[in-house]
Amino acid sequence: MPRFSRLCVTCSGENKAERNRNTKIFFKGAYVKYPFENGLAELPAEDRFYCINEYIKTLIALEKGGELQPPENFREWILYTFGTGIADLYMIPYNEKIWNYPAEKMSLHWVDGRIPPRPPVEDIIKSAIGIETEGYTHQSVFTYPVTGGIEALVRAIAAPVEDTIRCNFSVSSIEKTEDGFLISNGTETITADRCISTIPPQELLPCLLDVPLEIREAVAALCYNSLFSVCLGVSHPVNDYSWLYVPPQKELGMFNRISFPSNYSDAVAPAGHSSVLAEITFNEGDAVSRMTDDEIISHTVEGLTKMDILGSPEDVVYAAVKRQEYAYVVYDLAYRENIGIVLSYLKDVGIEPLGRFGEFEYLNMDGCIRRVLDFLDLNNPA
Ligand SMILES: Cc1cc2nc3c(=O)[nH]c(=O)nc-3n(C[C@H](O)[C@H](O)[C@H](O)COP(=O)(O)OP(=O)(O)OC[C@H]3O[C@@H](n4cnc5c(N)ncnc54)[C@H](O)[C@@H]3O)c2cc1C
Repeated sequence: MPRFSRLCVTCSGENKAERNRNTKIFFKGAYVKYPFENGLAELPAEDRFYCINEYIKTLIALEKGGELQPPENFREWILYTFGTGIADLYMIPYNEKIWNYPAEKMSLHWVDGRIPPRPPVEDIIKSAIGIETEGYTHQSVFTYPVTGGIEALVRAIAAPVEDTIRCNFSVSSIEKTEDGFLISNGTETITADRCISTIPPQELLPCLLDVPLEIREAVAALCYNSLFSVCLGVSHPVNDYSWLYVPPQKELGMFNRISFPSNYSDAVAPAGHSSVLAEITFNEGDAVSRMTDDEIISHTVEGLTKMDILGSPEDVVYAAVKRQEYAYVVYDLAYRENIGIVLSYLKDVGIEPLGRFGEFEYLNMDGCIRRVLDFLDLNNPA
């Protein structure tokens, strides 16, 4: 078992439930298998034809050589990998919805390992005529804490060193000294040998003195998305999906992904009830950023009712909205240059960044924990 999985299994003890992934894409009123290219049989006939025809035309162009230029941005990569049909119907509109950013202005350095790659042509043909194919199998089984939600995993990892952790200390200044750092929240100052930071650079740099203009400009140019998490309690069991992807559809909501935590563990909702989480990406200044929590809840409930996930708005017995400023790192075309400038500055100052927003990388939890394990290896060689 890989080291990361071993750590999670050991820390979670008995508090874990295993589930098969059952994810779908809600497309033109149908629940299409994920990834989209493995669910072509569920599309209307015209769309199915468009996807296979364009996919095969792309393969022929690739075989001939010279007709297709290697992609230079995310939009070109999607077209080059899946053909115009899959790109037009799903990949480009969905990605532009979740990233809230034009695909042609995004870099493509990150797609390897994060987006299912080009499937073999046999799989596309099988998928289109209704023979089952599986894409992205490495995510097909997952574990989740029985109680406490995903936070239970972090708490279990932290438990052995809990006494050394200080919470509710909002860092407002960091000063480098001869032999370490002075870290303050404005009223209290901590002396530290080292400073390992998970704070987003946008929040970290204002804590430092005399940051050169070039560095401040590089940080200001880094792109990220904020997120509304709309959390609903429902008075009845819902479907058996793990989560759903929702590409843009005029009559539906702004949410791009809907998860069903009560399908991950029976203990996270009262018996006979279920929980639903809808995610809406935004940036400060977008029209949605000015909506009130009540408006966002109504909007979401209306969309979920249209999708028949809710029988009616009255099925909702609990509703809350969480606004999270730092949710997704966005890889624009200048990302690598800007993050390079920022990380090299932090290195000069002696601050060691770690984690999703610390390193400003699109890392999931497993990626963050792996980075920590690598960091420990580097710092404590055997
Ligand atoms: C809606 C959503 C859904 C997600 N779903 C999944 C999923 O299904 N699977 C998955 O693997 N990952 C998922 N992720 C990603 C996952 O949550 C992150 O990868 C992970 O939490 C990053 O861990 P981290 O420790 O690097 O950063 P964080 O968890 O962001 O921790 C950084 C900490 O720094 C603190 N901080 C910031 N500024 C200061 C300051 N000035 N002083 C003191 N503290 C400060 C913050 O409060 C925060 O607690 C999701 C993320 C979001 C937003």
